[in-house]
Amino acid sequence: MDCRKVREVVFLYTDNEMEEELLISFREHMDHCPPCAQEIHRTERILRLVRRRCSRQSAPASLRERILTSFPHRRKLL
Ligand SMILES: [Zn+2]
Repeated sequence: MDCRKVREVVFLYTDNEMEEELLISFREHMDHCPPCAQEIHRTERILRLVRRRCSRQSAPASLRERILTSFPHRRKLL
């Protein structure tokens, strides 16, 4: 596996949807390529943050309303 391929399949890895065979060569590459390993850790961290924030924000409708009304052209419609 080369660096380009690693970045192509990184989302399969973070979603735990990578096939065993691919996963082995993916991990092998990470062991030998610090820049890719770093990139993957960064991607994982961002995804974790986004997911946490999304699940927290699914509840309050008041927040959504506040965001919508902050747009002047939307306020006219409401
Ligand atoms: Zn690499």
